[in-house]
Amino acid sequence: MVEINKEARVYVAGHRGLVGSAICRALKSAGYTNVITRPRAELDLCDRAAVDRFFGAEKPDYVFVAAAKVGGIHANNTQPAAFIHDNLSIEINLIDAAYRHGAEKLLFLGSSCIYPKLAPQPIREEYLLTGELEPTNEPYAIAKIAGLKMCESYRRQYGFNAISVMPTNIYGPGDNFDLETGHVLPALIRKAHEAKVSGAKEMGVWGTGNPRREFLHVDDLADACLFCMQRYEDSLALNVGVGDDVTIRELVETVCDVVGFEGELVFDTSKPDGTPRKWLDVGRLADLGWRAKIGLRDGITDTYRWYLEQGGALAAE
Ligand code: GDP
Repeated sequence: MVEINKEARVYVAGHRGLVGSAICRALKSAGYTNVITRPRAELDLCDRAAVDRFFGAEKPDYVFVAAAKVGGIHANNTQPAAFIHDNLSIEINLIDAAYRHGAEKLLFLGSSCIYPKLAPQPIREEYLLTGELEPTNEPYAIAKIAGLKMCESYRRQYGFNAISVMPTNIYGPGDNFDLETGHVLPALIRKAHEAKVSGAKEMGVWGTGNPRREFLHVDDLADACLFCMQRYEDSLALNVGVGDDVTIRELVETVCDVVGFEGELVFDTSKPDGTPRKWLDVGRLADLGWRAKIGLRDGITDTYRWYLEQGGALAAE
């Protein structure tokens, strides 16, 4: 275990995003006093020279790479070029600059959707690159795999202390509630809320409702990231999840219950289901001593509360 000095310079790339903002909250509450962030208007992470100048000036000791172009099944399907380009650029620029400017350690965030589409369940870390990817998000997945391989390669060739974690589907305060680009959980909260408020008799759900997904609250993920920054040092990208999954139908039923929408669910099977299941084996992280603490129902309640505080749909535009 490495006890990180509370005055260490800790850079969180992507601090306005769902995961980055949760990491910042977790760092602050753990007493870190030197958390460095830069808004996109001041630092474009796709601009290599700018990233290099930033690292040269700030010299962060610890780096969390929570910056990424992310989106749900529809966004991935319709903007493949942007997904592969932006993610590759961000990874190359950040990982290389962190190494060259002498960072102590870097944590890179992968994603469970980079495992093979038909991986055996629950998915163990070593199943990476053992089969074909899910076509709806292949460009994103290829870019994220490249990021993991960069961490692994920089560790092997240069001895750079770069680690990667593989979170399952993340949700929570700060989520993207846009119906076109967002992921399923915030989209369903918004749909259920709007259906309730407008008195609609039914609400639409994409796909068959049969795919299974695992959902991890972002505050649990942030806690796991801090834990791994201090306790994990290996090239294998470590799974982070809750150890349990639900069908989309079960998810929408829980969401409707929390939100208070009692109408009919209409499954639109013209929309893609995506991968049938992506349930992570979290045994390795559990063996190190970390477990998720926030249950799905409590997490949805917390996320719905945040959504309402933001003014509901208006704030999501
Ligand atoms: P994925 O986990 O990468 O497949 O991405 P998503 O979170 O976007 O979708 C997960 C599953 O939820 C897929 O099977 C979708 O078809 C289904 N789904 C049901 N309703 C919705 C919705 O309103 N929005 C989204 N994004 N997905 C939905």
